Amino acid sequence: MEQGVEVQSILKSLEPEDAVSEARPDDSIFTQLLERIVQGYSLSIESGAEESDSLEILLDGVSDSVLIVSPSGSILNANQSFYRTFGYERETLIGSEVFALLPPSHQDIFRQKFADFGRREGQRHSASSDDILAFRGVRRDGTILTLDCLLSGVQCRGKPAVLMLIRDLSFDHALFEQLKETKDHYVALSETITEAIFRLDEDFTIIFANSGVKNTFGFERGEVVGKPFGILFPPEVFSQHEAEFKKYFFVDDADRLALGLKRTLEVLGATKNRGVAPMEMSFGNSKDYKGRTLTCVIRDITQRKTLERKLRHLAYHDKLTGLGNRDLFNEDIKSLLGRARDDPGWRGAVLFLDLDGFKRVNDTLGHSAGDELLIETGRRLRVCLRDRDSAYRFGGDEFVVVLGGIKETQDASLVAERILSTVGIPYILRSKGKNAGSKVNVGVSIGVAVIPEYGSSLEEATRNADIAMYCSKEAGKNRYTLYDPIITAKATEHWKTEQELAAAMTSGGLSLAYQPIVGPDGRVRGMEALLRWRRTDGRMVPPSEFIPLAEANGTVIALGEWALRKACYDTRKLHARGYSDVFVSVNLSGRHFDQANLVPTLADIVRRSGLPPGSLCIEVTETAVMKNTQDAIERIKEIKRLLPGIRFMIDDFGTGYSSLAYLSRLPVDALKIDISFVTQLAEPQNQKIVNAILNLARNLQLDTIAEGIETREEWQYFARRKCGAMQGYYILRPSTLGKVAALIERQARGKSTLQPTPSG
Ligand code: C2E
Ligand code: MG
Ligand code: MG
Repeated sequence: MEQGVEVQSILKSLEPEDAVSEARPDDSIFTQLLERIVQGYSLSIESGAEESDSLEILLDGVSDSVLIVSPSGSILNANQSFYRTFGYERETLIGSEVFALLPPSHQDIFRQKFADFGRREGQRHSASSDDILAFRGVRRDGTILTLDCLLSGVQCRGKPAVLMLIRDLSFDHALFEQLKETKDHYVALSETITEAIFRLDEDFTIIFANSGVKNTFGFERGEVVGKPFGILFPPEVFSQHEAEFKKYFFVDDADRLALGLKRTLEVLGATKNRGVAPMEMSFGNSKDYKGRTLTCVIRDITQRKTLERKLRHLAYHDKLTGLGNRDLFNEDIKSLLGRARDDPGWRGAVLFLDLDGFKRVNDTLGHSAGDELLIETGRRLRVCLRDRDSAYRFGGDEFVVVLGGIKETQDASLVAERILSTVGIPYILRSKGKNAGSKVNVGVSIGVAVIPEYGSSLEEATRNADIAMYCSKEAGKNRYTLYDPIITAKATEHWKTEQELAAAMTSGGLSLAYQPIVGPDGRVRGMEALLRWRRTDGRMVPPSEFIPLAEANGTVIALGEWALRKACYDTRKLHARGYSDVFVSVNLSGRHFDQANLVPTLADIVRRSGLPPGSLCIEVTETAVMKNTQDAIERIKEIKRLLPGIRFMIDDFGTGYSSLAYLSRLPVDALKIDISFVTQLAEPQNQKIVNAILNLARNLQLDTIAEGIETREEWQYFARRKCGAMQGYYILRPSTLGKVAALIERQARGKSTLQPTPSG
């Protein structure tokens, strides 16, 4: 029999109504084909034909295992695939029992089935779903195989036989298991994450939602699936973004970047019960057999946004006043300047503010009072401004105001005036403590730079407003100055001087001159240390010029410490040369005297120098001590406690307004009669004052010093009136330490030029 003819005829005889519908649907034709082949094979044997090789070849071409067994289970024939699958050599199993290849649990079912087929006596029987058995087979090496088997009854050599068509599902099974596992993982993942995951079809209808939708939007899954995606957003937000969302639908992930689509979008979502909330969305689109879908992951970023806002606030705001800080100012001004560039008609202004007298509040009433005042200033500034203006604190008592858009310079002046009057209103301290209820009064010096005229860059605007502010300070504080290039030159000069003075302390530009203080007997009892400054251009600047400048900007404290240290050190040198009874008198500025940490620093400097406190006298002006007498009393007492023997003298006495009541309580040791009374001693009025001071001092048991003694007459006038000591050009001009030492030495050798005045 020709194999080709056989197959053809079988194919032909396959009528549609014969199709085995219950069997593996996609296998039905193939199975029937096989059945026919076997039947044909049986027939050919029955008709006496030789079993042809062609059948073998045909069966071997089948990728599934084919086995023909007798109803009792003995293997009659098998194809190549069977041997390969079960791991046996060809034909080694012919005649043996098929049950050996089955696990014990399945053996009975097969036995049963085979018997059924046997009973049917090979009646033609089309395979039904009952005839498909899933089972585990055993390979020769013991490996368990996942199989399914289609049984059909056939005639073999005229006897009923069973055809087993066995398919190895091990690979499919493993794949299926893997897929199931992957699916389980994804389901677990999508149900575990708190973000909402949606799948959308082309109409933007939600076709899938995970449980995260409840957490993110407050909706149950069932409330959103089947609904339009738009229900998750406020309508105006959705319509604004709809076109963009669509892009994500149609543009593949890989192409998005090139098309300028962001990886994530931040939009406002509409929740079920919490109103709108900021959401972050990311998208992934995919295609399946049903078409394209868009997967969208939505995360509620309310917390992140709040944190970002808080961090931004922290980074850009002053903790104390809540105003913007320098960084925020820099950002804001840059954007304003950008606006000015875009719109040539636009004008704004930068106002630089520095409180007048803030330091005094801080030093005398304490830092908490200072803080309270700064907070209040911030509040008052805000009151003075419109919505589009901003106030910033640059640190310390420096504030900056930016006027975002003015018509003319006049508008900036109006705001400056408003700030002056508002900040100037006295403030009553509220904080608990000893200063509660105290009235504080500070002014403010303001500099205004109009932009873009006087500030086309951040640096220029800030610098010019600062210069103008400086001019306000110079002109007497508590006022505003509009920046104008003419004022720059003056201010720049001022700045240069200030900077040079600060540098002079370390660069050797400063020195001390000493002027002897002598007793009525003409003998040197001490010396006053007087600061000298030689500028870099060689010019000598008198203290009357630079001390007020240093006082204004605070450098005077460093200067005073420098002078004190140097004077103590120089005097010790003098002591070392054998003149240990000579004292040094050092001037302390009013601002330095008010300095909060004066007491410990002063004590520290003196102790480190090794000079006995008894050899040191501190000169404080009458104005400085009388400003806050109670404080001065306590301060001097404290210093005297720490440095026993140290003396205090009131300098320039007679020029200020001493309260006699306080003077008696001030723990000072001497009064220095102001130079003006001495110079104009010819005036009877001055003589009266001098005599009154001398009497007062005697009654209060205070020592007296007359300074500015230039003539023999002046000398005699004071010596006769038992003035304790004298100082002036008549004795010696302020000189080097060496010259003073030389005078002392001459006196020691009895060669002093000064003649003690005969008493009486
Ligand atoms: P002062 O403490 O009253 O110093 C006395 C001033 O009178 C000194 O001026 C001195 O040179 C000057 N003088 C002394 N004898 C005569 C005289 O016979 N005739 C005249 N016409 N003047 C005389 P100087 O050195 O220019 O100092 C001026 C002021 O500068 C000082 O007045 C003092 O207030 C301040 N000063 C000087 N050195 C220091 C310092 O180290 N610290 C502080 N805070 N102030 C200082
Ligand atoms: Mg003095
Ligand atoms: Mg003086």
